[in-house]
Amino acid sequence: MSDPVYDYDVLIVGTGNAACSAALAALEKTPRVGMLEKAPQRDRGGNSMLTVLMRFAFNGAEDLKPLIRNYSDDEMRPLLEGLPHRTEAELWDEIMHVTNNQSDQDMLQVHVTESLKTVHWLATKGHDWSPATIRDDNVVTMNGGGAGLQKRNFAILEKAGVKFHYETAALELVQDAKGKVTGVKALTPQGVATFNAKSVVLACGSFESNPEMRARYLGPGWDMIHQRGVPFNTGDGLKMAMDIGAMPHGSWSTCHASPQDIALPKFTVPSAHSLKDSQTRYMYPWGIMVNMNAERFIDEAYDTRGRTYAAMGRSILAQPGGIAYQILDAKIRKMNLYTPNYQSATTVKANTLEKLGAELDLNVPKFVKTVREFNAAVQPGQYNPDRHQLDGKCTAGITPPKTNYALEIDEAPFEAFPVRCGMTFAFGGLKIDPKTSQVQHVAGRPIPGLYAAGEMAGGLWVGNYASGSGMMAGATFGRIAGTYAAVTAIA
Ligand SMILES: Cc1cc2nc3c(=O)[nH]c(=O)nc-3n(C[C@H](O)[C@H](O)[C@H](O)COP(=O)(O)OP(=O)(O)OC[C@H]3O[C@@H](n4cnc5c(N)ncnc54)[C@H](O)[C@@H]3O)c2cc1C
Repeated sequence: MSDPVYDYDVLIVGTGNAACSAALAALEKTPRVGMLEKAPQRDRGGNSMLTVLMRFAFNGAEDLKPLIRNYSDDEMRPLLEGLPHRTEAELWDEIMHVTNNQSDQDMLQVHVTESLKTVHWLATKGHDWSPATIRDDNVVTMNGGGAGLQKRNFAILEKAGVKFHYETAALELVQDAKGKVTGVKALTPQGVATFNAKSVVLACGSFESNPEMRARYLGPGWDMIHQRGVPFNTGDGLKMAMDIGAMPHGSWSTCHASPQDIALPKFTVPSAHSLKDSQTRYMYPWGIMVNMNAERFIDEAYDTRGRTYAAMGRSILAQPGGIAYQILDAKIRKMNLYTPNYQSATTVKANTLEKLGAELDLNVPKFVKTVREFNAAVQPGQYNPDRHQLDGKCTAGITPPKTNYALEIDEAPFEAFPVRCGMTFAFGGLKIDPKTSQVQHVAGRPIPGLYAAGEMAGGLWVGNYASGSGMMAGATFGRIAGTYAAVTAIA
């Protein structure tokens, strides 16, 4: 097979949210935009297809109105009761808080100050949002979730004449004698082809689907975990860029991993995904979690759900067998706190704690003792299972403590949900200039012609993360990457 050559002003690797945002932005400057996607067309769109929301700064209802077009003021009011605003300063503090003050401040500055502008920009492209119905600490979700967002993106980009190359895996970056990136070599269904470009944007995810890299960077045990998302993000873009001297950046030993149903498959492709059957198991703040030794192992509510879930996966993986049981009682059902996706959860139900422990094959006396000790440690106070705010209703005298939403587990029937760690994406990435998304060389200067966005850009997340941040960062830095890649290309 010959080596066909394609020519673009801007070539984007990946078709996730970061890539599509880059393409939307590049199109404002040039129509000559191409996109490479490793997956077949039916499974295009990456992990972004499986998402629900973006976390952005807003000052009140006026900022949300351009996003939620079909809602009246009356309908919007309840939306803002729990979270009337998330100012730039508040968003900054939240991310600094969850990352233990380790987020790259230059990246974060751009992320925070560009977030609202970026969602408004997406709205001008035809996207819209709806009030959030899930128990997360964000007030709105993308209409149709990530699948809806991406479906709209593909329609806009295809209409504008962007050329998509499916089943085409980028293999290596091509450079000229001066070190400028001039294209990408990729494996197409017909063989290896060269895609020439004046600028290249890498937006092809992190290494969560690559067991060798997971073990190498995240440590023992991570090679065998189940992923929440697509099998295509095998760190190719990271390797290609580091092969030409790109600087790694951020936390390469930590990742986003959360509690998932024990039945979580090894990975999920977009064509098989349904939000209804989502395997996320995020009700742990309303109950307790025990391991196979019938012991609690973590404060289940040290913060709101949206600020703990991405670190919970690691805690579960560290337990014997890498599993845990979420224990809830009938009060939680009566209070209507169950998220709809628990309807399809793997579960065990019993009328006594003894029977529940036996069904779970736990040491029954120890399990009953763990629950009773927890119950005895619950302090008086107002229980308020608010997704936006902590209630301070805590335990005293037990280790680990539960610092919020502590309510006795004493009303039958009792329910247990076995969960495992599901990895979402890795936090390590490349160093970019946050103002342009241009990839930086280890020699301390930018790599001409090379930009990166989405999971590929490192630095923002360290050890933990706040829900909705990956899609927001992808859109923001994707938009910046697409803009600067195109400006340089046509200069
Ligand atoms: C189940 C699930 C739910 C989530 N929910 C949320 C949420 O609600 N909000 C949120 O902010 N984040 C959420 N996330 C995280 C979010 O998905 C990511 O932060 C975001 O999608 C990253 O976007 P991206 O464009 O960088 O990567 P992706 O969307 O994963 O796109 C990467 C693309 O690159 C392609 N690719 C990989 N290698 C190559 C190659 N060599 N050549 C060509 N193409 C290649 C892949 O096929 C893929 O299409 C969720 C993740 C999962 C798995």
